[in-house]
Amino acid sequence: MSQTTNAWRFHKTGGPDVLQFENIPLAAPAANEARIRHTAIGVNYIDTYHRTGLYPLPLPSGIGIEGAGVVEAIGDAVTEVNVGDRVAYSGGPLAGYAQARNIPSRQLIKIPEGVNDQHVAAGFLRALTVEYLFNRSFPLKGGETVVFHAAAGGVGLIACQWAKAIGVTLIGTAGTDDKCALALAHGATHCINYRTQNFVEEVKKITGGKGVPVVYDSVGKDTFPASLDCISPFGYFVSFGNASGPITDFNLGALGPKGSIYATRQTLMTYIADRTRYEQMAANVFGLMKSGKLDLAPRQTYSLADAPQAHRDLEARKTVGGMVLVV
Ligand code: NDP
Repeated sequence: MSQTTNAWRFHKTGGPDVLQFENIPLAAPAANEARIRHTAIGVNYIDTYHRTGLYPLPLPSGIGIEGAGVVEAIGDAVTEVNVGDRVAYSGGPLAGYAQARNIPSRQLIKIPEGVNDQHVAAGFLRALTVEYLFNRSFPLKGGETVVFHAAAGGVGLIACQWAKAIGVTLIGTAGTDDKCALALAHGATHCINYRTQNFVEEVKKITGGKGVPVVYDSVGKDTFPASLDCISPFGYFVSFGNASGPITDFNLGALGPKGSIYATRQTLMTYIADRTRYEQMAANVFGLMKSGKLDLAPRQTYSLADAPQAHRDLEARKTVGGMVLVV
């Protein structure tokens, strides 16, 4: 049965004011799709890249790639979920900032009993990101010391908890002393305020001049190329975001003199494209949540109607941890 839904969309790229709250048709799900009625919607930094045009899209476009809710209807070919299941998703198509939406059912993962929808919506995509960064991009065994930038952000607070759970010494960076205190409270062993301190010098001091085998960097422009100077010989620079702007002046030749280091740009979408791997990654996230070692409770909650304000706060570095829109 076709119906309508209220959804945020944008017809041109720009600041938060380009977002428009529209009533749009919602068709019956196609054969491989399910319709979800959202209970909570994740707000992620990538949503701002879509809105500004940093990651270009055909317009007009919906926005939002993470949510949790209940399956309301399914297409004829759907096998992964049933009507009434509580589910979460990470990934496109972009239509998350809406009361209800259709989505390919292969994107959906059932939320286990006892796990809260809002917590999943605030942190599923981010926790899957930490899962692949720590288990797959540069696999950590425990005992390593690593640098993780923006450690009090959404992905960052998850990384702090995850590092503590697996016995990794995490040197975080953050933009205020209060944010550093929060990162330390979540499991970081050290935190450097990179607005008032030189993070390369501090990392060298902490590691006795050796540096670290891996830097996980989602800040981009402002922490590059300095991050390379924190890395020990044969170590890894794992870039996964551009909160301060993209890295545009990358010089491959510089990696040699800095100690034959490796550099890679990673994205969650490559990892979750394979359904089996996606399910394993989700199980690892839910396992850690159920063990009590990973708390994904949102630290900022907005109504769906306040999505532009959520973007303003995120881009102004006013937020910490995860954030959701509630319907
Ligand atoms: P965050 O909650 O971490 O917000 C971004 C943080 O970046 C800010 O709070 C701020 O923390 C820091 N920052 C540093 N410089 C700036 C700047 N100039 N403007 C704004 N923020 C800045 O966001 P998310 O948890 O949603 O995402 C974190 C990062 O991870 C993003 O870059 C995102 O794109 C990336 N990401 C990448 C994925 C991938 O697979 N490639 C998947 C998920 C996220 P502070 O004030 O402490 O510096």
